[in-house]
Amino acid sequence: MSEYGHEHSRAKEYTDAAFSLMAELGVVSHPDNFQIFFTYAAGTNSELCQMIDILRSNHREFDELQCEEIHTRFFHDTRESEIIERISTDLRTQLGNILETVQKVGVDTQQYSKALDHFCTYVGDKDRDLSNLEQALHTLLGATREMEGVNKVLENRLHSSSSEISKLREDMENLKREAMTDGLTGIANRKAFDAKLRDGVMMTMEEGDPLCLLLLDIDHFKKFNDTHGHQVGDQVIRLMAESLKRNVKGKDTAARYGGEEFAIILPSTSLDRATLFADQLRRYIESRRVVSRNGHTTVGKVTVSIGAAEFRPGEPVAKLVERADQALYFAKANGRNQVANELQVA
Ligand code: GH3
Ligand code: MG
Ligand code: MG
Repeated sequence: MSEYGHEHSRAKEYTDAAFSLMAELGVVSHPDNFQIFFTYAAGTNSELCQMIDILRSNHREFDELQCEEIHTRFFHDTRESEIIERISTDLRTQLGNILETVQKVGVDTQQYSKALDHFCTYVGDKDRDLSNLEQALHTLLGATREMEGVNKVLENRLHSSSSEISKLREDMENLKREAMTDGLTGIANRKAFDAKLRDGVMMTMEEGDPLCLLLLDIDHFKKFNDTHGHQVGDQVIRLMAESLKRNVKGKDTAARYGGEEFAIILPSTSLDRATLFADQLRRYIESRRVVSRNGHTTVGKVTVSIGAAEFRPGEPVAKLVERADQALYFAKANGRNQVANELQVA
């Protein structure tokens, strides 16, 4: 059976439903989009269903950009799915081991109960030949010891299976964390940012709250690298992440968006408040001094430019990112070390 595991008639039903929904929503029919809507029709991925339901209830357009985002989110994660596949295989092996052991113990227990039964009959028999008692006790003791041994084996095997399973769980948690964390700074990486932003946007549309996005870019960082070297440059990036960590709290998310660019997602925040927060953050960053590790000498101050934009319900998240990026570009062009929001961009 395929990974979808549907019966033939059901599969046909889902296929028809997927195609008619795609036609209704004006979705271009190609394999990626079909995969999305087939999965939706089959209801096999509750998160995907929820996402599409929210988008539909918001009368959001299912254009190529939107569909591509959905597809990437739900079907493109090959590294993670490979890891999950490996872990599931290991888990299946462990469960197989446990089952095999338990079944074997089942057989041995039956034999033991037969031996006990036999002994009871013997003891209960009025005409028993007492000269055989010693032999009978010996047999019973043997069977009991054997049972004890079997239980020991079971105990050991279950113990090793359970530690194997908890190791697998730990592996999985570590890999998941690693896949979402930026190696240099330890804050959320681009992948985590993408996922958080999509989640945030979904929540916003469900609850009708505003959501803002800030994009930060270090000013003249190339010159900084050229003057002080790449390692000091890396130190600045780490320092920047630290400043973000210190100022970005609660439901808000700070992420390393790219090389020397960062992003902050601010759920339940209006553009005004986001702009204000961005400016506080910009001042905080400006106030910090970068000290080179070797000579305790101050390398100087580092400044950032920040662009802010507010999500408009119904738009693909890429549009929101684009507007924040335009605002950032505006802040750069306007002299750097400042905040601009989308309203300032003509
Ligand atoms: P602007 O004010 O317009 O942003 O100028 P800029 O020099 O910061 O921008 P530009 O995009 O020209 O250069 C970005 C530089 O950031 C280029 C690259 O050397 C540096 N950079 C990107 N990622 C890293 C990194 O991980 N470590 C270090 N040390 N430098 C990086
Ligand atoms: Mg840049
Ligand atoms: Mg820069």
